Amino acid sequence: MIELKDVSVQYDKSGEPALKKLNLSLERGEFVSVLGPSGAGKSTMIRTINALQPATGGDVLIDGKSLAGFSRREQRQWRSRAGMIFQHFHLIPRLTVKQNVLSGLFGKKDPWSNLGGFFSAAEKKQAAVVIEQVGLQGMEDRKIEQLSGGQKQRVGVARALIQDPDVFLGDEPVASLDPGTSRSIFSLIEEVHKRNNLVTMINVHDIDLAKMYSDRIIGLSEGEVVYDGPPSRLNDTV
Ligand code: ADP
Ligand code: ADP
Repeated sequence: MIELKDVSVQYDKSGEPALKKLNLSLERGEFVSVLGPSGAGKSTMIRTINALQPATGGDVLIDGKSLAGFSRREQRQWRSRAGMIFQHFHLIPRLTVKQNVLSGLFGKKDPWSNLGGFFSAAEKKQAAVVIEQVGLQGMEDRKIEQLSGGQKQRVGVARALIQDPDVFLGDEPVASLDPGTSRSIFSLIEEVHKRNNLVTMINVHDIDLAKMYSDRIIGLSEGEVVYDGPPSRLNDTV
């Protein structure tokens, strides 16, 4: 579904590229963890796939079609197919769980059709469904600022899920959470991944989490792939 062909990203002309001629393909049903030290290019890779950061060399293909050639509308459609969660959640603290989850639908709509922030009954019903799927039933009307880190990330997952995504991307989604909470978030991601048969790609620092949950591990170092294979072979190479 997603193919990176010789993808490079160079932020400034004098510096080292953040990604150096990366080649990868990602298919439906794959749960991929991306491991690598800080500065390896993990976040850049995720943002390049999601069209938030253009490749400065090479090409990203979505279902065989070049992302570089997408119109604005096609880019928006692609982003709405890709649910995303972040280390610092990127939720709106003063709004409620339900309001934050519904905000995931903005990407699906024509940007001019919903300026008032009104949602249909069906959309509100769908919000209740995904809130239950992430285990936050009964907390719909709580404000984000009143939640624990793990609960906030569950809201992040629900906001991605309401998009009914094909792709699920996580940029260090458990880096601010304690080990037990991190595991519970990874199990939730796994559950969501399997139920919806997604392409899932998660950046993570913790090798044990990556091994426990993913089918495939990609190791990045200084913008290059240094490992790409099943968790079982990781010990032989690192
Ligand atoms: P990781 O997610 O593995 O920590 P990043 O993709 O954030 O790695 O960063 C890769 C490299 O690109 C680093 O050297 C980082 O400083 C640089 N970088 C990341 N984002 C930007 C940006 N917006 N502008 C300039 N340099 C950036
Ligand atoms: P988060 O944890 O929410 O993903 P980060 O702290 O990793 O946020 O990064 C915040 C922003 O700073 C990102 O948009 C990233 O692209 C940018 N950034 C990271 N490294 C650099 C850099 N060396 N120069 C400029 N911007 C950077």
